[in-house]
Amino acid sequence: SSQYDLLIIGGGPIGLACGIAAQAAGLTYIIIEKGCLVNSLYRYPQNMTFFSTSERLEIGGVPFVSVNPKPRRAEALEYYRRIQQKFQLHIRLFEEVTMVHQQDTGFEITTSKSVYQARHVVVATGFYDIPCLLDIPGESLSKVSHYYNDPHYYAEQNVVVVGASNSSVDAALETFRKGANVTLVVRGEGIGPRVKYWVRPDIENRIANGEIRALFNSRLTEIRPKEVDILTPDGLITIPNDFVLALTGYQPDFAFLQKIGIQLADDASKEPYHNPETMETNIPGLFLAGVVCGGMNTHQWFIENSRIHAEQIVRQIVSGAPLKR
Ligand code: FAD
Repeated sequence: SSQYDLLIIGGGPIGLACGIAAQAAGLTYIIIEKGCLVNSLYRYPQNMTFFSTSERLEIGGVPFVSVNPKPRRAEALEYYRRIQQKFQLHIRLFEEVTMVHQQDTGFEITTSKSVYQARHVVVATGFYDIPCLLDIPGESLSKVSHYYNDPHYYAEQNVVVVGASNSSVDAALETFRKGANVTLVVRGEGIGPRVKYWVRPDIENRIANGEIRALFNSRLTEIRPKEVDILTPDGLITIPNDFVLALTGYQPDFAFLQKIGIQLADDASKEPYHNPETMETNIPGLFLAGVVCGGMNTHQWFIENSRIHAEQIVRQIVSGAPLKR
């Protein structure tokens, strides 16, 4: 089979940006995405509003027009779908990369459907596939979810939302407004510092008015079919419960990164090794792009500051630095 100049793993905004840069440089390339186009964005909550203004989500120099100061998920899906249409990027959807093997002249990439050869590989797999678990009894019950989609489902139900960042705060406010009885369980002593500035007064006022019950310095210790235990500063309490939304963050697929040979930092960040100028990992010819680069520091990179990775990588490839093996 023929060898691509570049194989890109992940069809998120940054994987697409890499495809655009490769195409512009005349490289042969293919993008492999395990889900639908911009799969992570598709799986965001229905009503999610970005914290970024639309121009900061642009790739390929194509304007992202929105009448709202901050675009919504549906608009972003439309934008990136139109990007795909415009550039006719070479992308295979619903195909998962399972292994990348180094070879004498590049890489052999195994997917759920095929095997590919490529001189260079970019890992742009993001961090939305693996939730950070609570690691408590009952977490595997079907009423527990680490992803939140639509509030209507929770109408008239007793809902516990775990966490104090954007995902948790959005879910608590939306489900409250659809008639759920919401308890927010927060490990720290307040609402997270990165909560969208226009959302903060809303959640703080709902809590102050007693419309949403917030338990700070608290953690969920056990989930049972009809109730949950929460350890609070005043002791252990048990409350009736129908659903738990454990929105405590997500992490890159470290097992995959290690399996394909990428070194991770020894510290808590577990940052996958990459040269910040070229984005090349410890394996020559294998690159990282997008939000996967931060390891556990998932707030370090976002679209605005990581879309540039695409040009850095393609510049390095085109400069023809020979693969040292
Ligand atoms: P992703 O968009 O996550 O793309 C990675 C892709 O790789 C996914 O489609 C995934 O399916 C695919 N994939 C993973 N493993 C494999 C495999 N083995 N084989 C094939 N495909 C694979 N950023 C902003 O800039 N502004 C915001 O307002 C913003 N809001 C956010 C809100 C939420 C709720 C979340 C979770 C994140 C938000 N982010 C925001 C960060 C967001 O993750 C990034 O902006 C953006 O999704 C990163 O793009 P990416 O291409 O690096 O990763």
